[in-house]
Amino acid sequence: MIVTIDGPAGSGKSSAAALLAERLGFEFLDTGAMYRAVALACLRRGIDLTNAAAVEAELPALHIEMPPDGVLVNGEDVASLIRSPEASQGASKVAVIPGVRLYLAAEQRRIASGRDFVCEGRDQGTFVFPEAECKFFITAEPRTRAARRHRELIAKGETTSLEDVLKEQVERDARDAARELAPMKPADDAIVVDTTHLAPEEVIAKLVAEVARQCSTVRA
Ligand code: C5P
Repeated sequence: MIVTIDGPAGSGKSSAAALLAERLGFEFLDTGAMYRAVALACLRRGIDLTNAAAVEAELPALHIEMPPDGVLVNGEDVASLIRSPEASQGASKVAVIPGVRLYLAAEQRRIASGRDFVCEGRDQGTFVFPEAECKFFITAEPRTRAARRHRELIAKGETTSLEDVLKEQVERDARDAARELAPMKPADDAIVVDTTHLAPEEVIAKLVAEVARQCSTVRA
């Protein structure tokens, strides 16, 4: 069974997706990490991320693996390196390139094939797994999302202002929503959850209850 969770940056979807997978006993796929990994690998090779042909030409040399506790690019664990602001912006740049999307979508389908997965990203319910049994779109007000992300960055020792985080987020959301292939949007049959005024436990309770409602083999 596949459960998809899509939504914008800072909506709380990543932690919700990981926790939901744990509660359901499913595996968890963070597809944003795969876009980040492509961006990081290209940045390291000095490739201009807006040059679609150059980025696409790198894909055959990239072997991305998504074990439960890491993100491997050609065997190197880049899980923390891909969390930098450059990799965040870079990810949303390579994400507009159709060749990158088609390559990663095929990888995502291959990884989840025949298994129980919670798949999290921007296009999981609309493009990668349109047939998924249960779909969520998790969102929150832009300022709330930026404030959450800002708190995380400060906790990690980074020095950045809330205004800068908000600006970066607005740019990334706009690129994600405007691209031609598989833009970020709720699937027609997705349940939209606004987390602006919800605590993380409330979000999880809502998701588990919805999955149980839609799927008779899952208990809330
Ligand atoms: O979720 P995360 O912030 O790690 O995603 C980084 C970027 O990767 C997003 O801003 C988006 O541009 C891209 N992405 C995507 N499709 C996905 C997951 C992420 O385009 N399924």
